[in-house]
Amino acid sequence: MAVLASVSLLATLAWCQPPSPLVDRVGATGFLQLEADSFRSLSPREQAIGYWLSQAAIAINPIIYDQLSRFGLREKRVLEMIVSHPEQVNRTAYPKILAFTKLFWANRGNHNETTAQKYSPDFNFDELRDAGLAVIRHGGTSFTEAAFLKELGELKQPLFDPDFETMITAKAPRGGLDILQASSNNYYSGVKLADIAKFTERFPLDSRLVNVNGKLEEQVYRAGTPDHRVPPGLYAEYLAKANSYLEKAAALAEPAQAQAIRDLIRFYQTGDPQDWIRFGVDWVQNNAAVDFDNGFIEVYRDARGAKGSSQSFVTVIDNRVNSLMVKIAANAQYFEDHAPWAPQYKKQGVKPPLAKAVESLIETGDFHVTTVGDNLPNEDEIHQKYGSKSFLFTGTTRAFSRATGNSALEEFAASAEEINVCKKYGDEAEDLLTALHEIIGHGSGKLDPKLAHDPAYYLKQYFSTLEEARADLMALWNVWDPKIQQLGLVSSPDVAKAMYYSSVRVALTQLRRNPKGDALEEDHQRNRQLIVNYIRDKTGAITEETRGGKTYLVLRDFQKMRQGVGQLLAELMRIKAEGDFDAAQALIEKYGVHFDPALRDQVVARYAKLDLPAYWAGINPELSASFDGQGNVTKVQISYLRDFVKQQLGYSAMYAARSGTR
Ligand SMILES: [Zn+2]
Repeated sequence: MAVLASVSLLATLAWCQPPSPLVDRVGATGFLQLEADSFRSLSPREQAIGYWLSQAAIAINPIIYDQLSRFGLREKRVLEMIVSHPEQVNRTAYPKILAFTKLFWANRGNHNETTAQKYSPDFNFDELRDAGLAVIRHGGTSFTEAAFLKELGELKQPLFDPDFETMITAKAPRGGLDILQASSNNYYSGVKLADIAKFTERFPLDSRLVNVNGKLEEQVYRAGTPDHRVPPGLYAEYLAKANSYLEKAAALAEPAQAQAIRDLIRFYQTGDPQDWIRFGVDWVQNNAAVDFDNGFIEVYRDARGAKGSSQSFVTVIDNRVNSLMVKIAANAQYFEDHAPWAPQYKKQGVKPPLAKAVESLIETGDFHVTTVGDNLPNEDEIHQKYGSKSFLFTGTTRAFSRATGNSALEEFAASAEEINVCKKYGDEAEDLLTALHEIIGHGSGKLDPKLAHDPAYYLKQYFSTLEEARADLMALWNVWDPKIQQLGLVSSPDVAKAMYYSSVRVALTQLRRNPKGDALEEDHQRNRQLIVNYIRDKTGAITEETRGGKTYLVLRDFQKMRQGVGQLLAELMRIKAEGDFDAAQALIEKYGVHFDPALRDQVVARYAKLDLPAYWAGINPELSASFDGQGNVTKVQISYLRDFVKQQLGYSAMYAARSGTR
């Protein structure tokens, strides 16, 4: 019946002369076109599965806007109404509204998804109002003037007041507020941390907690069951839509993958944590060529580290890099045995994690292009029994390195040697770090049997930082192990040097992502700073030097640094295994959180001269399907639109029929 977007001319020409993947810029944000040429070598049946899983990914995409802000979906609707009618809007206002809308999509709202901080538009309230009214008067929308003016009145403060709801996630709040009250995300409404202490959540991962007249209520995210025994909950519309596409994917999938997909359908119907675990167990044991995830997955956005962000990706295997992953996974027990931590925390009979190098067909919700590796599922009870599955997003890594070049390396490296080594082996080191981080990092270690809950329960807001640091440190520890060369994982011993140089340099360069304040919020940034500052303090292998007004982090001794890596790794493993909150807090607060704002200003200024993006948004490949009379997919084509606006408006069109009913 319907045939979706056609192959663009650009994508056809691209074959002769590959264009830069950096296709657009708004201020410090670059828009990166992802490519997934491996899709073309799939069978027609696999391609159809990829199409339906991608539709399910698009179906859940609106949810994250609501999770990150209670105003998110309403703001999105207003902005999309305006940018989809360029011809009706004032020519001075339109480019400003369009630029803001691109950032809004890139960040899934008006807080920067990396720094969690709010950003403001370059247009004013009157310009937005006049633009909206012009579109409405042309009949381009189902909004009435009165309804629009009322809506805009309510959105004025969330959109234009920089001091209103300033942070998605505030783990170090000020002004007497606790971490929940100071966070503007929508996981809690009127709830204090202390309220939850005596409350048992039935749906810890997938619910919103609301204070209703002094009583705590749990609003579960679910579609409801067809027999009405389980009633619909929050986000029912989106989850039911996703389920309708997941059904179509399941009908085409091999039995094991079909089972996993049907488990997810069940979970989206009930919201029941047991159904989520069942999905994880079946999902982690399946390794289909077209793989996916879809669910309430990462807990970084919740200051408590409990509530999951809605997110999805669909991938195809990248056979070129896949062999690297398979070799590391096959030797997982070796790396566990050689870990620098106490013997009682070493796992026996490590089940090699399922690892795969992939290209993304689509990334939606809270899954961002900056994620170059992922290890899932997150639940320790599944890890312990069934292992985990690791993804290395090689298509993404390639796009990044082609888009950025070497200018930042030349500016921030402390020596000519560092520049040389990183130019030669930087990409290889990064791929290897990601692979080791995901495959033998997160999956490693054994917990103290006395722990009654997951470590996250004990370590609270420090858990994610600690776990990311542990995974990075496993890579940094093992890259010097002779096994790495024996397995042929590196083309030169200097890959280890490149990995060390890069992980030191990043503590400096990542400061550019925090233009305000003097504290890091994002867990990966905290983990990288923790590692570098700890090693500086404990071993002296790294020093800070200023030459001609420019600050450098100088790596003086690789093996001394490795000793520091081992020391910190052993301590973090102990903290995780024992759920030692006080130790986690002391370490992370001392080394991982605070930075010198003057140094940050210097870094920002040096970056500004390079004119590179500091933040990134991905443009997904487009899958367009042809159908027969019964609605079955007959053919799927992949193309690269290189047009973020068209893609995002296309995603919204899935729910367009409803847009006027509010
Ligand atoms: Zn990680």
